[in-house]
Amino acid sequence: MADTSRSTIKGVRLKVISIITAAFVAVSSLALIYVSHVYSETQNSFREEEMMMAECLQSCRDLQSASDYLTDAARSFVVTGSPDYVAQYVQEVETDRRREAAIDDIRERLGDTEVAQTLEEALEASVALQEAEYYAIRLKIESSGVDLRSFPEVFQSIELSEWDANAKADSQLAVAQKMLFSDDYHKAKDVISGKVDKSIDLITQSMVRNREENAASLTNMHGLQYILIVFVLVFSMALMALLHPLVISPLENAVKSIKHTQSMPLKGSYEVRYVAASFNDLFEKVMKQSSELKFEAEHDPLTGLYNRGAFTRLCGELEGTGYTLILVDVDKFKTINDTYGHDVGDIVLKRFAHGLTDIFREDDLVFRIGGDEFAVILKSNEDVLRNAISAKISHLNSILERGGNRRGSNLPGFTISVGVAFSRPEEDSDTVFKHADSALYEVKRGARRGCAFYSEEV
Ligand code: GH3
Ligand code: MG
Repeated sequence: MADTSRSTIKGVRLKVISIITAAFVAVSSLALIYVSHVYSETQNSFREEEMMMAECLQSCRDLQSASDYLTDAARSFVVTGSPDYVAQYVQEVETDRRREAAIDDIRERLGDTEVAQTLEEALEASVALQEAEYYAIRLKIESSGVDLRSFPEVFQSIELSEWDANAKADSQLAVAQKMLFSDDYHKAKDVISGKVDKSIDLITQSMVRNREENAASLTNMHGLQYILIVFVLVFSMALMALLHPLVISPLENAVKSIKHTQSMPLKGSYEVRYVAASFNDLFEKVMKQSSELKFEAEHDPLTGLYNRGAFTRLCGELEGTGYTLILVDVDKFKTINDTYGHDVGDIVLKRFAHGLTDIFREDDLVFRIGGDEFAVILKSNEDVLRNAISAKISHLNSILERGGNRRGSNLPGFTISVGVAFSRPEEDSDTVFKHADSALYEVKRGARRGCAFYSEEV
């Protein structure tokens, strides 16, 4: 195939497929990386939010626990009179300040939300209750008769009511205890607990909502990941389905063609077709050259007949079979060359080759085995051929000596001498040749122009 016809080759280009594949792989990989990144980010922020909410819950519990601690300290002092409880109470209110810290923490984490406001209300209720507790503690100090100055300064500034100040110690203690164990006190404590519980509920609800939203968004991202993976799978399978007819199958066919020394089918992608077309081009050239070389190797360039090499090869192949070898030599050919020139001698040889071919059958093989030496092989060695061969040679001689061949052209007249041998199965090709040659020699030794058959007696 010429280059011009190669330029007309059509087909899908692998370059285009590879660009599309690279683009698809890049986009889908980036999308997968992005979705995975967002997925893990979402999980991280969810975890952080859960931890923050847990800390908020802890703050709520801290406020409740600080309020209960104050209640316990105040009550314990009123009941036992141990100043350690007063110290603990004041320490909590003035130094530890866990309730205020809880509010600050909630505000910092959640801002001015309902949770913060509710917890603030709890703190306000706790601070309000603090007044009763201070008063009860002050009253207990009064009833105990201990020096007020040994207690924190804050108690010295608390003024007792006139009735309480003048009441007996027992009554004072009874009032103090009633203040901290009364229904009103319990109700105030319930208000605080209620507010804290409400804050905890709000935080818990927010956590549940958060979990639901997070689960939904993770589910969506999972879905997206599955879709991308399925997309990549489908694309890969489609690519394989495409590559099979475009590359794999044509390459398999190419291997088969090479193994069987055949031209390749023009199938598959543009590139594969182009390679196949180029291969076919070269293949055709090589085949043509090799058949030309084979022809040249087996044929005589002057006459176009099979040459000596082909003769030797065929004789070898025919060994052990029955065949007839006819050796032909032009008589006094040198004289023709000398008289008419070498060129005319060549024409004579060519014409003679045609004449010799013409008088034998198509399946008889005619060779030029030397300058003016020819051979004919008949693939049969029946004795009945003897007369037919003699008659053909005699007829040919009668034409040749008149100065032409059967086609009647004007050429110098000449004759031929012929020696014939019938092969025997036990004889090798050299022996058969020698027999035919000795028969030819006999003719040459005699009057020439004739035909002799080899026999043991010759
Ligand atoms: P004989 O009867 O004994 O065969 O005599 P002859 O002259 O034919 O002798 P021989 O067969 O030995 O000589 C063959 C001659 O053929 C010798 C050579 O000059 C000539 N010859 C060989 N090849 C060619 C060729 O290709 N062209 C021509 N024109 N002559 C050739
Ligand atoms: Mg001769």
